Amino acid sequence: MFHRSEVNSLDQDLAERLKQIRESGLLRELRRVDSPQTPHLEIQGARLLNFSSNDYLGLANHPALKESAIRAVEKFGSGSGASRLICGSLAPHHELEETLAAFKKTEAALSFSSGYAAALGTICALMGKDDIVVLDKLVHASIVDAARLSGAKLRVFSHNNVEELKQILQWADRKNSDVANKRSRILIVTESVFSMDGDLAPLREIVALKNKYGAWLMLDEAHATGLFGQNRRGLAEQEGLGDQVEIQMGTLGKALGASGGYICGSRLLIDFLVNRARSFIFSTAPVPAAAAAATAAVQLVQSSFGEEKQQSLWKLIGQLKSFPELSGSTFSSAIIPLLIGDETKAVEVAAALRTHGVFIPAIRYPTVARGEARLRLTMTAAHSSEDLDKLKSALHETIGNFPK
Ligand SMILES: *Cc1c(COP(=O)(O)O)cnc(C)c1O
Repeated sequence: MFHRSEVNSLDQDLAERLKQIRESGLLRELRRVDSPQTPHLEIQGARLLNFSSNDYLGLANHPALKESAIRAVEKFGSGSGASRLICGSLAPHHELEETLAAFKKTEAALSFSSGYAAALGTICALMGKDDIVVLDKLVHASIVDAARLSGAKLRVFSHNNVEELKQILQWADRKNSDVANKRSRILIVTESVFSMDGDLAPLREIVALKNKYGAWLMLDEAHATGLFGQNRRGLAEQEGLGDQVEIQMGTLGKALGASGGYICGSRLLIDFLVNRARSFIFSTAPVPAAAAAATAAVQLVQSSFGEEKQQSLWKLIGQLKSFPELSGSTFSSAIIPLLIGDETKAVEVAAALRTHGVFIPAIRYPTVARGEARLRLTMTAAHSSEDLDKLKSALHETIGNFPK
C-alpha cells in the first residue's frame, strides 16, 4: 500500500522547489526528437536546423556504425548480461579497447558506460583523502563530482590560469617536502577543449608544470578527439604531447557518434582501473551494439574519410568567423558560444531562433555560472553551406532584435 500522505508531502516540497527554479528562468524540460541525429531534426512537430549537437563528424547516423551495431546485436544479442568482471566482457568490448589504444597510441584502453562514469571511476580509484586534485575552474561536472567524491583535497585554478596552477603546485610541493606529512599524490585534471566555452587549454605549459612538480595529468579530450591532430587523436596529438599525458580520457558519444566513455594510458593504469574503478566494476557492461558502433567510428575517424570530415568541419568553422552576430565569439573548436548573460533573455533568443527554423538551445546555470547564460552553437561536418546561410539570416533576424 502507498502511504499517500508521504507521497503528497514529497510532491508538495518538489512543487515549491520547481516553482523557484521556474521563477529564476532556470526550468529545464525534455524535448522529444522524432528523427535521427542529422543537421535537420524533427522536434515536437517542427523541422529544425540543428546547431547544438556534439556529433561533430556526423557519425551518429552513419551507415558503417549502424551496420556494425546491427551485426553485434545479431551475433551477441541486445544485452551484456552482467558486469565486465562477471561474464559481460564480450568480444566487442575487447575489440573496442584494442582499437582505442591503437588509435591513441597508448599501451592500453578501458571503456566505460559513459564519459561521466569514466571520470568518476578513474579519479576516485586513483585519489584518496591524503591526495590533492587540482582542477581548472571550468572543467566538466563529471570531473568536479569525481574530485569531490574521491575525498581528496581539492584545489581550483582560474580558467586556463597557469600562474595560479603553478602556485598550487608549489604549495603542494612544500607540503610534500615536510617529512612529518604523508606524501600526497597530485593529479591535475583539465579539458583540451572546454565544453561550454570552446576554448583550448594551454597544454604545453600545463605539461611543463606537471613534469616540474611531479604531478600527473588527466586530460579530457571529449570535444577534441576526432577534430584535432593529424590523426584526429585530439589536442595532445596536435601539440606533440601524446606521450606526456598519463591519463587520456574521452567519450564515445560525441565525435565518435556512439555512446560510452574511455580511458587510454599505460597497461598498469588500465589493470589498476579494472581492479579499483567502482563505476566500471559495479555496473553492467555496455550493450554490445554500443561498443561495436564505437569501434567502427574509431576506424572511420582514422581513415581518409575521417580526414575529409575533419577538413570540411574546420572549413565550416572558418566560414562562421564572418558572421557579424558572432563577432565576440571564439573559433578555436567546433563549439562557438554566443554569450547572452541573462537566463531569461537567453531562453527568449533561443525561442526566437526556433521560430526561424534554427535550433540552438540556451545553456544556463548550473551548466554555466549564473549570469553567464549563452547560446552554445556547435558546428558539424554534416552541415552544408546552405545550412550556414540559413543560420546567418536567422541570427541576423533574431539577435539584432534583442537589446544588449
Ligand atoms: C560530455 C562530456 C563528458 C561526459 O561524457 P558522456 O559520455 O556524455 O557521459 C565528460 N567531459 C566532458 C568535457 C564532456 O563534454
